[in-house]
Amino acid sequence: MKKLSLSVLLSFLFSAALAQQPVTLRPKLVVGIVVDQMRWDYLYRYYDKYAETGAFKRLLRQGFSCDNTMIPYIHTVTACGHASIYTGTVPAIHGITGNDWWDKTINDYQYCTGDTLVKTVGSITAAAGAMSPRNLTVTTICDELKLATNFKSKVIGIALKDRGGILPAGHTADAAYWYDTKSGNWISSTYYMKALPAWVNSFNAAKSVDSFYALGWKTLYPINTYTESTGDNMAYENRMFGNGFPYSLSQYAGKNYNVVVATPHGNTLTTRFAKAVINNEQMGADNITDFLAISYSTPDYVGHSFGPNSIEAEDIFIRLDKELGEFLDFLDAKIGNNQYLLFLTADHGAAQAPGFLNSYNIPAGHVQLQQLQDTLNIKLKEKFGAADLITVAANYQLVLNTYLVDSLKLNTTEVKQLAIKYALQQPGIKDAVDIATIMQAPLHNRIKEMIVNSYYAGRSGDIQLLYLPQWVDDFEKGGTTHGVWNPYDAHVPLLWYGWNIAPGKLSKEINIIDIAPTLSSLLKIQMPSGCTGKPIAEIIK
Ligand code: ZN
Ligand code: ZN
Repeated sequence: MKKLSLSVLLSFLFSAALAQQPVTLRPKLVVGIVVDQMRWDYLYRYYDKYAETGAFKRLLRQGFSCDNTMIPYIHTVTACGHASIYTGTVPAIHGITGNDWWDKTINDYQYCTGDTLVKTVGSITAAAGAMSPRNLTVTTICDELKLATNFKSKVIGIALKDRGGILPAGHTADAAYWYDTKSGNWISSTYYMKALPAWVNSFNAAKSVDSFYALGWKTLYPINTYTESTGDNMAYENRMFGNGFPYSLSQYAGKNYNVVVATPHGNTLTTRFAKAVINNEQMGADNITDFLAISYSTPDYVGHSFGPNSIEAEDIFIRLDKELGEFLDFLDAKIGNNQYLLFLTADHGAAQAPGFLNSYNIPAGHVQLQQLQDTLNIKLKEKFGAADLITVAANYQLVLNTYLVDSLKLNTTEVKQLAIKYALQQPGIKDAVDIATIMQAPLHNRIKEMIVNSYYAGRSGDIQLLYLPQWVDDFEKGGTTHGVWNPYDAHVPLLWYGWNIAPGKLSKEINIIDIAPTLSSLLKIQMPSGCTGKPIAEIIK
């Protein structure tokens, strides 16, 4: 046997000791998972259908579940949710008041991540990549990790939806990637890079979406076992690709890269890309903590089309559970058991489809918001002599044409009062209140606080509309939505797992804005710059 020289042996032992050195201060990797439109009750509604090796049973048994995690502001939509989770504060402070909003400073719509100063990287679709986090006014927890490690941490955000990847990853991210529904490519913007890395180009060149289409969409288990859901192909569903299971998708191959987002393959595409990020970007490979922010957009597209009580929704979550279980196995093997910290939450829930509720005698309906705006503008013109005094009715608010009101020297209060009086006469409108005097409004304190938490001057409307519970905006093709204060939209799951997380449950009510300061505490880094949430003490042992 060959003898090792002493110096070789010592250097071998030294490097072996370094390699095995436990990461005590921070985990190697933080994985944030937002499931777009995951109601909290899905954890338990489908519990018996989840696999023993799937993610949800593992996170519930071996992780820590905050069972009453609420959204503390009124506009429960994707952009606000992702921004609030990662900044630890509310739209009134981080500035993301909707997926888009009427911006009074530019007198036009502003998309949450829209940025005309940057261009698409990775496809020829100009509009898809003109995106950045610039409209976010504060730092995210990912920015704070970057600052804490003098920018040695690697931060990447990914989601099919641009806003699901961009807003969490923050201003200083190494990259955010999202899906271009025209080309079928994962893309980015010049905010982050000049060209896609070679591995992203190879990933795109594989055109995996076409192979997904060949599979169609069949239920994972026999359809008659989906006893937690109503029958297939209900009248109130938006039948976007045919009349019920099994769905053929082969007709879309090579032609339509959009439809995949509303099938389970959209989740698979996201998971595959997440694994490719970890493998190719060496995420979690050394002892400087990296952060991967993943958002699963597909459940939202499916939820909007079919509603929470559909077989489609059930199948999506049964499949996501299995797939996330395999992702945990991947992380265990790649990063190491207990070497990564993972949390899973949602940006909002969703209302049941009104047609479904009506079939069980639960009051529900559709608000005709565009019609309300049109007829209200006629009423206002009759009284004040000017057309289009309401610029837009959007985000459950009426936006007053302030320029017109001022230039015609109209009495703002009188215009608002007439608008409120008229709105209150419309079906499904429970309350309409002047946001400027919200603290004097005879509203439940919780709702009042949620309205204030959503108000950002210049990016908000003037009159808040509050729908009757279970009432949603009308969609010509059926389906449902989210966006209001009620628990079906505002109650989301929150699960913690892995590094320094002891199994447990918390029933006390907490908020999604408590996630970022809890991460700050766990990682020993500063809270995001606008943080108003509080660390969840029960998790930090
Ligand atoms: Zn969403
Ligand atoms: Zn949605």
